[in-house]
Amino acid sequence: MFRFYNTLSRTVEDFKPNEEGKVAMYTCGPTVYHFAHIGNIRTYIMQDALIKSLEYAGYDVKRVMNITDVGHLSSDADTGEDKMVEGAKREHKTVMEIAKFYTDAFFKDFDAVGNKRPDVIEPATNCIPEFIHMVQTLLDKGYAYVAGGNVYFDTGKLKDYYVFSSAVEKDDLEIGVRDDVEEDVNKKNKTDFVLWFTKSKFEDQALKWESPWGVGYPGWHIECSCISMKHLGEYMDIHCGGVDNIFPHHTNEIAQSEAYLGHKWCNYWFHSNHLNDQSGKMSKSKGAILTVSVLQGKGYDPLAYRFFCLQSHYRKPLVFSYDTFDNAVSAYNKLVKRVSELRADGAVDEAAKKEFETKFCEAVSNDLNTSMAVTILYDALKADVNDATKLALVESFDRVLSLDLIGHAKALGEGAAVDSELEAYVNDAIARRAEAKKAKDFATADAIRDELKAKGIEIKDTREGVEWHLV
Ligand SMILES: [Zn+2]
Repeated sequence: MFRFYNTLSRTVEDFKPNEEGKVAMYTCGPTVYHFAHIGNIRTYIMQDALIKSLEYAGYDVKRVMNITDVGHLSSDADTGEDKMVEGAKREHKTVMEIAKFYTDAFFKDFDAVGNKRPDVIEPATNCIPEFIHMVQTLLDKGYAYVAGGNVYFDTGKLKDYYVFSSAVEKDDLEIGVRDDVEEDVNKKNKTDFVLWFTKSKFEDQALKWESPWGVGYPGWHIECSCISMKHLGEYMDIHCGGVDNIFPHHTNEIAQSEAYLGHKWCNYWFHSNHLNDQSGKMSKSKGAILTVSVLQGKGYDPLAYRFFCLQSHYRKPLVFSYDTFDNAVSAYNKLVKRVSELRADGAVDEAAKKEFETKFCEAVSNDLNTSMAVTILYDALKADVNDATKLALVESFDRVLSLDLIGHAKALGEGAAVDSELEAYVNDAIARRAEAKKAKDFATADAIRDELKAKGIEIKDTREGVEWHLV
């Protein structure tokens, strides 16, 4: 049985999808106004591990993700400026240029860490008619009101607005309703949120559309409800995000979706914890943003970062430092080397393979215990089975781990083969040159030196013998 922690019930629950064998999953996508830091990418790695674990356990997963390219204000509680406008001003570009640039940058890093792309990726700006339809329905049903030109969701109409109240600290719940954030006098209740903004509030909003309530643009929360329903229907199995999405974003998504539908919307809520650096939670406002591409620029393999993330549990905060990361990198390299030494040497021991696969599946099915899954991989490599079986297991486990172990091992093997070939060739040339010198055939000796030089190899005569290096 596949089990994981459901933030709604605050317990590890057996997973029962609405439709046997199928999983309808939604993940909140990036707001493409800036780079996604490695903490954001950790969330997507753990979601990818969840999807691949469900697939490993035999489920067929359909995953939908939005791209927020309008409507997400600098505070999640609808205050401040639209993040996209902020990005455009910062970089003197248009909002659409910013959206394109940071969407591409996001997927470059998303792909580099071995993630599979969602089945549907939908930018918010594609779905304006759907947003307007949902907002109108909420108004018709009495769950929304117009004030000061904006349309608000009336949280006072709900019996239980704080659906996650048991799952988050009270302090976190109040972030959106703190006294120090600028108060919106249009709101009936402090927790009410904007479904549709009109230009009356933000004159310089770049993207705006006609609506029954005036020219404007959608709020952030409405996106995820509409986009998920557009592609997954009225019932969803798993909704994913980071813990910082629990309130207010996911709380608001549930409020408006269930008010709109008139029934329960999503059964399981999967949240990954933060990545912290040594000074605290990673953020985009603290200067240089540490991205997967930045790590790559420093010579790190993005899959080593995935390995680093898989070694800790998704529900625990993870601290990133170069020291701990370097340890993970060297463990990853050793693992690749170990795999590169395996030789397919006969028939796969199917019984032993099945036994390990069962253990592996149990680990990932037990609240996504990826570090245990990695341990089982090590156990398999140490086990008393032939290399062919080990290779088959590496291939099997990598369907979830996605560390490209076989591919990297092959590249390492080829690299080593080239090196030893080169070494043999150079040693032979040095020996021929020594022979020629001994026979006082200096023309041949020089020709050999030139031949090496043409191949980018320089030799130097020293007291200890001939040294060579690549130039
Ligand atoms: Zn969302």
